[in-house]
Amino acid sequence: MTPTIGINFHGIGDPKRNLEPGEAPYWITHAQFENVLDRIAASPDPTAYVITFDDGNQSDHDIALPALVARGLTARYFVLTGRIGHPGSLNTKHIRALQEAGMTIGSHGIAHVAWPTLADDALTRELCDSRSQLEDICNQPVTEAGIPFGRYDARVMRALRAAHYTAVWSSDGGRMKQDAFLRPRTSLRGDMSEAMIDSVLAGQMSLRRRLRRTLGMMRRRWVTTG
Ligand SMILES: [Zn+2]
Repeated sequence: MTPTIGINFHGIGDPKRNLEPGEAPYWITHAQFENVLDRIAASPDPTAYVITFDDGNQSDHDIALPALVARGLTARYFVLTGRIGHPGSLNTKHIRALQEAGMTIGSHGIAHVAWPTLADDALTRELCDSRSQLEDICNQPVTEAGIPFGRYDARVMRALRAAHYTAVWSSDGGRMKQDAFLRPRTSLRGDMSEAMIDSVLAGQMSLRRRLRRTLGMMRRRWVTTG
């Protein structure tokens, strides 16, 4: 399989809801978003990129969907089911429109909590109830999850496998294998320079960051921290 670069977005443009503490840097402008999509579409192999969106903001539908369709690109949307229909977030009509346009819908849980902090039963609810709500809306199986805040550990991985997810998307950065269960992505932020975005799109990481990423992913996969 070709190594692939996962690019993760959150909100685009002006937020239409109150942001969580620490969330603002993950919102980017409409122009920044279009610029990244243009670069992906113009790259020698656009299929080397997987575009994803976390949180289920309304901009997923209003801004991202037409911009993707215009460029012939598709994306995965990881939706927080606790926010469906709330102001500034996707509603069921939006989700169905994304699906009908060929986008993939996945779960980001219900309440935007860090999964390692949850007790087993609450974790199972986050993984399973969010998915069944999305399956009801989409009328087809939902098999992938975007991990909130990129925070996971060995117990979370076991719970995701036990819940029969087939792929889970973290925020570890760098490249991934397209058929891997755990697929690292890089979240783009509004304060990233052009040069930083260039290196993300090139899948480049310094030796130090690569080492930190490898050790971090090993620890998160094999150790339970919660
Ligand atoms: Zn999130």
